[in-house]
Amino acid sequence: MLLREQVPLAPYTTFGIGGPARWLVEATDEASLVEAVQFAREKGVPLFVLGGGSNVLVSDEGFPGVVVHVALRGIDEEGNRFQVAAGENWDDFVSRAVGGNFAGIECLAGIPGTVGGTPVQNVGAYGQEVAETIASVRVLDRERLSFAELPAAECGFSYRRSLFNSTQRDRYIVTRVDYALTGGAMPAVRYPDVQRAFQDRRDSPTLAEVAAAVREIRHRKGMLLVEGEPDCRSAGSFFKNPVVEQAQYEAIAARESSPVPRYPAAPGFVKIPAAWLVEHAGFQKGFVLGRAGLSSRHTLAVINRGGATAAEILALRDRVSEEVEECFGIRLEPEPVWVG
Ligand SMILES: Cc1cc2nc3c(=O)[nH]c(=O)nc-3n(C[C@H](O)[C@H](O)[C@H](O)COP(=O)(O)OP(=O)(O)OC[C@H]3O[C@@H](n4cnc5c(N)ncnc54)[C@H](O)[C@@H]3O)c2cc1C
Repeated sequence: MLLREQVPLAPYTTFGIGGPARWLVEATDEASLVEAVQFAREKGVPLFVLGGGSNVLVSDEGFPGVVVHVALRGIDEEGNRFQVAAGENWDDFVSRAVGGNFAGIECLAGIPGTVGGTPVQNVGAYGQEVAETIASVRVLDRERLSFAELPAAECGFSYRRSLFNSTQRDRYIVTRVDYALTGGAMPAVRYPDVQRAFQDRRDSPTLAEVAAAVREIRHRKGMLLVEGEPDCRSAGSFFKNPVVEQAQYEAIAARESSPVPRYPAAPGFVKIPAAWLVEHAGFQKGFVLGRAGLSSRHTLAVINRGGATAAEILALRDRVSEEVEECFGIRLEPEPVWVG
């Protein structure tokens, strides 16, 4: 087990914020994960599992226990089945699948982070989510110190949710995700932004063209990590799209002069884009609060404008969520995971 002490966590995150980990384990195989869990138990300290750091906000004080950086690598491909080690880069895997003409994850191109991170919040974008293509997830059960394979049906997937970030939070470390893709199938062109990209085309786009279009849309919205671009020190969307009762949606819609956008949700419920709520609560793209701010391309991305502390990001979070609650009676839920 490769163990280091007092390791700054900011470079391990896309926000570029956060103090040190008391201990950091670089886990390149399953055995080191077991050792890391045992080590944390012996020391009586908490353990945090870190992937690509693209959906976390680390506290300025850092983490007082063991951070395990999941760095297991390798992809086994058989037919349409891909067994992908948790530490593999997600976007690289999407490119490989699309390049091999396998459909199912082409709209998830350009999302940062690791493959092991994808089942945790059931990563989704532009009309696809990983719950549609995950066959099973291999995990280390931290309670029993044994490995298990969880079929997708047992992972409790729903919008930005799985058992890994809800009922069984902190119980499992994902070591491998098995994806079942579809060879030679048509790409998913379900989402309005993606449909618009191909509206002038008579023939259907290829998987590669859809993946490229998604990257382009993401880039426009500042949701693609591009080295050196100021809007890129973020964790992507900072707030989840809230799901509200139909009656609450109608009450909001009745007060507004223009239509309030909505996405389908469970019967009797409506999902409202958080970006719309943030904008209509008075926040513009590029809003600044100290060294924190909102992206100049997307109101939903909170950014580190350079040298921001976690406290500054939290101050902006509070300001935005309080205004939204006051205007619409909806409490926004942050998407990034707090570490500290
Ligand atoms: C620019 C940008 C755009 C984004 N766009 C999207 C988007 O469109 N859709 C979307 O869903 N997300 C999006 N995200 C959020 C993020 O990229 C995803 O949630 C990603 O899957 C997180 O993976 P990660 O490896 O970086 O996880 P981390 O950020 O390292 O961790 C996130 C959570 O997952 C847990 N975790 C990570 N790896 C493991 C593991 N192996 N085992 C157990 N738990 C683990 C961590 O403990 C933590 O709770 C975006 C982020 C950015 C910065």
